[in-house]
Parts: sequence; C-alpha cells; structure tokens
Amino acid sequence: MSLLLLSTALIASTDSTLKYQIEPTSTGHDAVTVSVETNSLGTFHALPARTLANDTQPTLFCVTANGSQTAIEYQTPIQCDHVTWQLPLAAIGKDGFDIAKQIDSYEPIKGWSFVSEFNSLPRFATHNDELIPAQVCSPDNQCGWMPDADRPPLFVVWGLKPVELNINGKTIKVTTDTEQILQTMDDWKPALESQLNYLISLFPDSSVNQWDIAFFSRDKQAGSVSGAAGSNKILINAILDNGQFEDDEMPMLLKIAAHESMHLLDTSSPLWASESLAEYYAIKSLDKTQYKFTDPKAQWDGFAQSFPFASTGLFEASNLVSTEQQYQYYPLFYVKGPAFWQALDQSLMDKGESLDSRLPTLTYNKDGSLSEASIGELTKIIGKKKWDELTKLYL
Ligand SMILES: [Zn+2]
Repeated sequence: MSLLLLSTALIASTDSTLKYQIEPTSTGHDAVTVSVETNSLGTFHALPARTLANDTQPTLFCVTANGSQTAIEYQTPIQCDHVTWQLPLAAIGKDGFDIAKQIDSYEPIKGWSFVSEFNSLPRFATHNDELIPAQVCSPDNQCGWMPDADRPPLFVVWGLKPVELNINGKTIKVTTDTEQILQTMDDWKPALESQLNYLISLFPDSSVNQWDIAFFSRDKQAGSVSGAAGSNKILINAILDNGQFEDDEMPMLLKIAAHESMHLLDTSSPLWASESLAEYYAIKSLDKTQYKFTDPKAQWDGFAQSFPFASTGLFEASNLVSTEQQYQYYPLFYVKGPAFWQALDQSLMDKGESLDSRLPTLTYNKDGSLSEASIGELTKIIGKKKWDELTKLYL
C-alpha cells in the first residue's frame, strides 16, 4: 500500500502529546519495556535517541491493530497502533552507581532502577517533520517531559521514596539509596531547605518549578565519583569509605546539590559566569547553615600555587574554552571565578549593597565578558580603583 496515500488520508494532529510508559518485564529486573501509543499520529517516523558514549539505538517495534509486530527503521515513515522497545538494565555492583556513565541500571539489593534518555529514548516526528512533545512515565507513574534537544538529558529513576521539600512555590524531591543519609535527614534537611530557599530568592523570574535531587552511594575505592544535571534531575554520588558514609562528606553533597540547582535556575549566564556563580553561591548558601565549606579566596590562593594557567584572566579563559575548546582553562571557572565573585560581593557589601541584588541586572557581551553597562553600574558603587584592582586580580 502506498504510504503517501495513507498519510494524506490520515492527517496527524500536531498538538498531540505522546506518553512513553516504562514497565517492568515479566522476565526480571534486568530489562524494562517502553511503549508509546501512536495510533492517533497517522504517518510518523522515529528519530534516534541522543547518544553519549556510543551510537547504540534501541530496536523499535511497530505493533498494528491486528497484533502484528515488525521492526521499525529510524527516519522512515510508518503507521502503528503503538511502538514498543526493550531496554536492558545493567546490575549495579557493590561499588555503587557510576553516575558519569549514565548506563540504564537496576540496583538488585536496594530495588531502584535508572534509565537515561541517552541511547534509550528515541523521539517521534510527524510526517511533516514536527517533533511530537512527549512525557516519559516510570513504572510508579512519575512522569517527566522529554527536554528540547539542546537541553540536558532526561533521567528517570524509580523505586526510591522521595522526601518532598516545598520552597516558595517550588517542589524539590530528594531521594537517596544511602542509608546513613536517610538516617541523618533531621540534620541536613533544614540546611538544604535554607540553601534552596536562598538560591530560589535570587531568581524570582525563574520558570522552573520542580526538580529532583538524588544521592547515590559510590565506594571511594572505585575511583570515579561524580555528579550530573539532567533536565529535571540532579544526580550526585555520595562517597562511601568501606561501606560507611562519613558525616564530614555532607557539606560536599550539599554544595554540589546547590551548585547543580543554580544551573537549573540561572539559564542565561555565559559558561564561565554560570559555573563560577553556581560554585560561589553554592558555597555562600552553606554559610547560613551549620555546615562549612572552604572559603573561595583561600581555595583560590592554594590552587593558584600549582595550577599552570593561574595567571590567565577569566575573560580570556572563557574565550579560550568557548571558541578554541581549550578545556585545560576550565578549572579556572570553578576556583578563580568564585574568588572573583566573592571579592566583588564583599566590595559591594562594603558600600551597603550586595551581589545578590545586582545578579539579575548583570549582562554580558557576545564573547562572554561582562558588558560595559554592567561594569559601569558596578564601578559606580565600588569605585574605579576597586574595580581596576579586581580586574587585575581576576579578569
Ligand atoms: Zn556546574
């Protein structure tokens, strides 16, 4: 039958939304099935999932009304009642979940599972190439929107009981598979609430209303410990030493949670400013709690002694990283950057102002440097001498 005839006979409605339902398979925890109702789409085609370390794509099957099941070629027009595919889940070993690899996994003892959009969740487009919006729902019916292709990936986690924080109209769900973190919740929860409350107050116009923060155990001996920010979910490794989570690791976890939350709130700063502001405010947000983190200036002074590119200014580093991909300068954003913002914040506070209130007014040039207008405003408050001093030290 002619596909062209079919596509003109059944005109796809472009305002439809797809629902990807993830379900356990009957064979065990080591795989899940994803199915999507596609009968209202008319002719459509599948687009490959975004990828991370390799090009693997799931094999999709088209199921028609009469029950026949055939494999689908990506980017080829088709009509199906629904589309289904299987995702294998790797068993997480005793070292814990390696966040950096973002491999679809299940935890056989603790009973939770993880699916990343990468290599696993294809998208669908109408016959006239319009991407169809989609929600992805876990077996416990928590759903998340498939992000735009230029946004961080979607992560799906299920099988962990969330602790819900409601802060200024925003909902942050915290989950963990680490027993000691759960047991000490009364200690860290007020601190995290205070941090998020502060960060949210800095971005009154932010349209992000909900995100998740998940802490996953990872053994120190395994060597790789990391964090990752998805479109709606922040993943953070909690380091275990011989199976034990040490209390003195908590400030680091809270700092990372705040840093990644800043990335969800501040979506307009250029890379160097985004990283350095996230780090500065992550540390500043801890100041109001019982947890302490190394002072940005002290951290920078120590780091500068051995870092080979310490004398490179932040604007130049920004340019080298963004236009020439010279990532060896990237660490400056995390260490020199926070020291700069701290010094600027202090100078503003000396004049009865603070960086907090100036933050929404900062603008940047195309090359990432602060705009003349912003520099003018700041100089008006702290004085030209002070600004020149900061420029010489950091920018
Ligand atoms: Zn960051």
